[in-house]
Amino acid sequence: MSKKMDLTNQRFGRLTVIGENPEPYRSRSGSITRRWNCRCDCGKLVTVLQGSLTTGNTKSCGCLSREKAASRHKDLSGKRFGKLVVVKRIPLDNSRADGYQNGWLCKCDCGKEAVACTEDLTSGHKKSCGCYAVESASELARTDGRNVFGRYEGTMISQIKPGRKPSKCNKSGVVGVHWNVRRQRWIARIGFQGKKITIGSFQNLDEATRARKKAEEKYFAPIIERWNEELRKKMGGALAC
Ligand SMILES: [Zn+2]
Ligand SMILES: [Zn+2]
Repeated sequence: MSKKMDLTNQRFGRLTVIGENPEPYRSRSGSITRRWNCRCDCGKLVTVLQGSLTTGNTKSCGCLSREKAASRHKDLSGKRFGKLVVVKRIPLDNSRADGYQNGWLCKCDCGKEAVACTEDLTSGHKKSCGCYAVESASELARTDGRNVFGRYEGTMISQIKPGRKPSKCNKSGVVGVHWNVRRQRWIARIGFQGKKITIGSFQNLDEATRARKKAEEKYFAPIIERWNEELRKKMGGALAC
């Protein structure tokens, strides 16, 4: 018989395994799954199926998801995040329905309004309506003469450059690709010169990612190319991007 896995003293998220539960789980078909007694960092004792631990599905006694849910529902009205002050809660459109049904209408110090989800605000991902990037760019331009975030052909260069980090509430991890709960498909979109273009919907994330990349090459690459070219001329060969 092969040696039995021993999870004693191992840590899985907030759970530390104390020892095996003498009573395994028996399914109706008769298969047996081992269970482990764990102590959560919050002090609670729980019994967890072995697979739930090893796959990372269970990381706490339940307190972790309760905390996440609570922070999602916390009222942020009146709170300040960078240049944004939260005005009120508003429903987000379907594109962000992956667990974040609510967003926040914010007023930026510059006078413009912006919409952000809880995670974006509390994580510091979003600190202004977008004007901050412009300001720091002009600051940068002043200090070392580079126009890194400039507006060019009606497009914010910083918004179309490759390697941008997706929003914290985007579960795909890919800019411009999100999961649509209602349609159960990945939707790839691209924002270009003030328009939102839907590229398509896809069953798997890879396809959606590829489609988005293709669209970036089609819409963004020529602009970045021309912008780089202009920059090269302006700076006499020295290159910023
Ligand atoms: Zn706990
Ligand atoms: Zn602003």
